[in-house]
Amino acid sequence: MSLGRITRFALAATIATIGLAGAQLAPASAATTQAEKPLAVRTVLYNANAAGVWKDNVTAAVAIWNASEKNVKLAAGSPATMTIDAIDGWPYAEPSGLGRGRIHLGEQAVRDGFDRTRITAHEIGHILGLPDNRTGLCSDLMSGHSAPTSCLNAHPSPKEAATVDRNFANGFAAAATKVTRYDECFTERACV
Ligand SMILES: [Zn+2]
Repeated sequence: MSLGRITRFALAATIATIGLAGAQLAPASAATTQAEKPLAVRTVLYNANAAGVWKDNVTAAVAIWNASEKNVKLAAGSPATMTIDAIDGWPYAEPSGLGRGRIHLGEQAVRDGFDRTRITAHEIGHILGLPDNRTGLCSDLMSGHSAPTSCLNAHPSPKEAATVDRNFANGFAAAATKVTRYDECFTERACV
């Protein structure tokens, strides 16, 4: 092997090493850039195609939540992490993580006199990380059934809205409530 050939081999090996180093640096550099960016608003995509007669109430409840929060927004789209459908029984929510879960809007609560938009906004509140809070106050969205049927308020209280913003301050990774189903929000059973 001549010196010339060895030199060329060494040169080729050096270039290959630099190339590898460059490839390894690229992702690390991108990750650093991402970490330095300010936190973006999180969007929870939902699918309400099966919401039936509740469709307009979903639109109204989504608008209320979007006007109430800075760190999270709701939008119809795919892939949806929140699904909303209509059932004949009592409404309930099945959160499976922050910003994730299934909502079943139940006609039975409407027959009992509860407001559709309040019910819808309440169930969305569960997906946004709020538990039931049976204060009996109409000004609390999460008071659910404990407020009278005359209550038409579908807006979260300032405290509830602030809690949701805190829940999403660190993205979807924040610890969500461990409860996986809320099904006594608007039932005829007495709420404590
Ligand atoms: Zn509830």
